[in-house]
Amino acid sequence: MSNFVWCHGPSCHKSHTQDRIRGVKGSKVLRTKKVPQHSNHINMYSYFCSQGCYNDFAHKHVREVIAIAPRTEPLETPIEVTKEPHTNSWNGQTYMETIIRTVDTNGG
Ligand SMILES: [Zn+2]
Repeated sequence: MSNFVWCHGPSCHKSHTQDRIRGVKGSKVLRTKKVPQHSNHINMYSYFCSQGCYNDFAHKHVREVIAIAPRTEPLETPIEVTKEPHTNSWNGQTYMETIIRTVDTNGG
């Protein structure tokens, strides 16, 4: 595994799993796991060996992460709401279903 990063989970090296054991008898350690890199597909799993390690990182650094793109006001998506009749396939009963459609505001 030549192209890798170390897992960024702050407690990765504390998980008691066999694949983290390194060293010789008398001086063994649990070591942070390697995460293989695939340059054409980068997401959170490019930096973490597991969902747990990602969660540990996010919980520890949440203030710094939020500071990257703070949300100070709510976002809104323009919609149209209609009620349309819908028939259940399993019992044949008709009921009114609330349909939410996104409104395209870009003139398209
Ligand atoms: Zn990890």
